[in-house]
Amino acid sequence: MIIAIDGPAGAGKSTVAKLLAEKLKFLYIDTGAMYRALTLKVLETNTDIANTAKIIELAANSSISLSNNPDGTLKVLLDGREVTSDIRQPRITQFVSEIAKIKEVREVMVELQRKLGSQGNAVLDGRDIGTVVFPGAEKKFYIDAQFKERVRRRHKESKELGQRLAFEDVSADLANRDKIDSERAVAPLKQADDAVYVDTTRLNIEEVVSKVLGFING
Ligand code: C5P
Repeated sequence: MIIAIDGPAGAGKSTVAKLLAEKLKFLYIDTGAMYRALTLKVLETNTDIANTAKIIELAANSSISLSNNPDGTLKVLLDGREVTSDIRQPRITQFVSEIAKIKEVREVMVELQRKLGSQGNAVLDGRDIGTVVFPGAEKKFYIDAQFKERVRRRHKESKELGQRLAFEDVSADLANRDKIDSERAVAPLKQADDAVYVDTTRLNIEEVVSKVLGFING
């Protein structure tokens, strides 16, 4: 079974997806981590963000692999090197949406996501899982929350990661990513027609998980 979880940043998607995968003993696939890993490579190779041809070449020639640690947490490898925490740096977050809007980059990532997901039961979270990657997914959710609440959560998370980001900067980054992700020509962020919409603004994580599980089992 494939469970597709889409929505904007800070809505709680990845936390819900991870917990669901753990409870159901499914593979957890964080598709945003793949775009982040490629962005890390682009920055590390000093590739100009406007050099689309070079970025496409990097995407085709990189090995990005995701696996789940025994405790359910995600492990991300880029060309065999662990980059799990590197890909959460603010400079990656700042540029990832520019990289993710390139059609040929998405083709490489989607192929990888389909390959991983087809191995068995999986929960995938991203922006286009229910619309493009697995349009036939058995269960689809669109997880959303009000903008201010999403900024609050991301700001709190960044603090927990030891990053000293101003609330205004987190807000500007989220607004920028929301705009690029939902306005891009290829696979924009949007709710699939057959996805269940969940507004998490006033729900805690346990409430969200139990709501989603209710739809899965119901
Ligand atoms: O989920 P996360 O916030 O880590 O994703 C980082 C970025 O990767 C998103 O802002 C979006 O630009 C891109 N992304 C995407 N499609 C996906 C997952 C992520 O375009 N399926």
